[in-house]
Amino acid sequence: MEIEGLKPLEEWICDVCGDIIKSTNDWLEWETNNITDKDENFRLVHHTCKRTNDTNTLLKDLYIHRVLGNNGLAKLLNTLETLNPNNVSDFTEIIRRLHLPYYEEARQFLEEARINGEYFSTELTEEDCKYIIDEYSKAFL
Ligand SMILES: [Zn+2]
Repeated sequence: MEIEGLKPLEEWICDVCGDIIKSTNDWLEWETNNITDKDENFRLVHHTCKRTNDTNTLLKDLYIHRVLGNNGLAKLLNTLETLNPNNVSDFTEIIRRLHLPYYEEARQFLEEARINGEYFSTELTEEDCKYIIDEYSKAFL
């Protein structure tokens, strides 16, 4: 189900339950795989949707409020430099979601836009995101 009208850079869609995250005391979390030593499964989640450690992974997290705004971007870039990501684009996707206005809402419609031959590049602007929302959210009304 698509969610419309998210407040840009203030609300996100929880990667576990699919409901809206409204509190910046919720989390960016990921896992370090104990076997491969890779960081993976980056996600934005409610406090109540957080995972717990299991034997194969070490859970790591940051409060969302720590990774917002200019200082948050500095934190994310520094974090990226210390990570060993399984796939770096999984982390840059998180940066887009937290820092590119309207991206969080637009990403729900991105697959359909790409089926229509639009926006294959990940270099999306704020204007691109607004266009995608305008153009593709109508299909779900
Ligand atoms: Zn949730």
